[in-house]
This record gives sequence, C-alpha cells and structure tokens, in this order.
Amino acid sequence: MLFYFTKMGIVAGQQNSNLEPQPEQTFVKNGFNSSEHHKEKPLNNGSFAAVAPSLDTVQQVDIRHSEFRRASQSKSERWTLRTPTKRDIVARLERVSAEDGLRLKQCCSAFRVLTCGEHTLRSYPTFRCKKLFCPDCAAERANRLSRQTEAKITEAMQTNKGRLCLLTLTMKNAATLDDGLSNLKKAFTQFKRKKAFKERIKGYFGGFEYTFNPKTNDFHIHLHLIVLRGKFWNQSDISDAWRDVTGDSFIVDIREIKDAGKSVKEVCKYVVKSNDLMKMPDEKFLEVVKMKKGTRMFISGGCFYNVKLDEDADGADDIFSQFADLTEGDPCPFCKQELFDVFVDRQQHIGLHELNVMPNVVKNNSS
Ligand SMILES: [Zn+2]
Ligand SMILES: [Zn+2]
Repeated sequence: MLFYFTKMGIVAGQQNSNLEPQPEQTFVKNGFNSSEHHKEKPLNNGSFAAVAPSLDTVQQVDIRHSEFRRASQSKSERWTLRTPTKRDIVARLERVSAEDGLRLKQCCSAFRVLTCGEHTLRSYPTFRCKKLFCPDCAAERANRLSRQTEAKITEAMQTNKGRLCLLTLTMKNAATLDDGLSNLKKAFTQFKRKKAFKERIKGYFGGFEYTFNPKTNDFHIHLHLIVLRGKFWNQSDISDAWRDVTGDSFIVDIREIKDAGKSVKEVCKYVVKSNDLMKMPDEKFLEVVKMKKGTRMFISGGCFYNVKLDEDADGADDIFSQFADLTEGDPCPFCKQELFDVFVDRQQHIGLHELNVMPNVVKNNSS
C-alpha cells in the first residue's frame, strides 16, 4: 500500500491552522515511517483537562498532516462556519426547551478517538443527539448514507439497465410539517403504483427535505429521488401524473445524473438547512424540534430497495470505514502497535474530521 502521509495527530490546544509543515515530516511511499520520536511526549498543556478526567494519563498524540493541509483548511473553514450555526441553534433551543437545548449542546462536544499513537482509525462522539435538525448528526448521517450507497447502486446497475436520473417531486406549501409530510408520503405511495411509474422506473431512493418560508409562515416539503429510469419519461407526463395523485401539485423535475457520487451526496444531505431553522417562529421551530422520533425521512424501492439508512448505527465518524470493527487493544493494521482510545474536545477533533479524505487516498494508491 502506498501512503502519502505519515503522521496525523491532535496537537493539544492548537488549531489546525497553526500547524506549519515540519521538516522531519517525510511522506513515505512504501509503508509507514516507523520513527517513534513522537511517543511518550507529555501532554503539552492542560487543555485536555476540560474534556475528561482520565486524560491525565493519556499520552499526547502528535498528529500532523501538511499534505492535506490545503484541503483541510477549506473544510476547516466550513466547520468553523458551521460551529456558530450550531451554537445559534443551541442558544435558541435552550430558550424554548431547556432539556432539548442541553442535549444538542452536549452532542459532539467531545470525541473518543481510536489510535495507535501514529495512525487514527476511528472517532466517536461521546454523545450524539441523532436529531434531524442537528448539523453534526445530519452531516454524519449523510456521510454514512452516501458511503454505503455507492456500492449498492453499482451492484443494482449490473443487472438493471437504465439511466440514473434525479427526480424531484414537490407539494404545495403546508402549514404544519406533520400534515405536509404525511400528504407527500401518501401521494408518493399512489404515484409509485401508477402504470407509467412501474413501466419506467426500475428503482428509486431518496429523502424528504423541507424549507421554511417566513413570509407565508409555512413549509415547502419536497422529495428528491435518485431513480433508475428505463424507458424515457418526459417531464410534462410526470407532472400530469403527479397532479393526478396530489390534486393540486404539479411542479416536478427530472434530469439525468452525470456525477452519481455528487447526486447521492445531494439527496442524502439535508433534511432541513440550519438557516431555515433559524428563520422559523418559535411555534414552528418547536414543531421541528418535537418531530416524532423515527419519522422516516428516507425511502427506497425497486432495484434500489436495499439502499437503506441504518438507524441503529453507532454514529462513529469512521475515518477508515473498512476498520469499523476495530477496538481498543487490537493491533493497528498499519504498524501493529496496540490501539488505544484518547479523548479530545470539539476543537481538537476538527483536525481529525478532515482526515475523512484519506480513504480515497488509500484506495487510489494501493498497490
Ligand atoms: Zn447531534
Ligand atoms: Zn499504527
């Protein structure tokens, strides 16, 4: 296997952007640099102390990854931008429902990271709220879903010929989220029973998304589907068929997909955007917050029936998803050193989160 990085690490109390490329960093292309100079360094300051008491005994993990610094920084910036958004949602939620606010605040405030000291393999938040409006949980959910989906699409398309299209079905605005969602679900159930649908759509999967219009004080709910289309189906016929089942809604869109990976990410991405959430008046905001747990926001069928979201997943941010079974005490698959857990706070985790780019590097360069 070829690798283009040697060490990654959490530098306690430092932000990623403070890291300068280190002269001793060599990018080893066959196997890992086995130098152990980073081991047994003391914790360089007390910043871990705020996370968990057990951290007194944890050795500092020295992580640097200048190779990915450029990519990382832009992602880092996005995280930094997202952080105040979550903070805003927390502040607002604490005002209307103290208990929910606390849960959201604690979600992803600390992480447990599985590492050998040199390689970082998994990271889990110590607590995840799993709320659909939580930016952190929505991102994790979308990542997990799009990661799992790619292989399933490829598999289904080996035996089913057709073109991948993005189909969007929209409904007239609804005063409440519950009504809007159940109406859309009912309409889609009828829609997929139609002869034209059955003849043309071999498989579909996708998610419900909603936006909020502050002027009219109502929700716009729509369904984004990735479909495998056999026979051509033009937009105006789809529109007629959709009006047929909804009675009053006819705005639809179908387009061929050029970049499947990107489209999958799009449909998996957001249930609601944070911006929209912040625009809602308190009663609508509460409606979103109190939405029934387990409300299904993702559907699939036909030859894509097995594209599903695993609702019981542990919510780990698997840096290398192929090592999802590893735990403390196992040998590191790269260097055979024993794996152990460290705890880091949110800020320190930002540096790690970016390392999600690595599976591609591993995949593309394995020999
Ligand atoms: Zn959350
Ligand atoms: Zn290792």
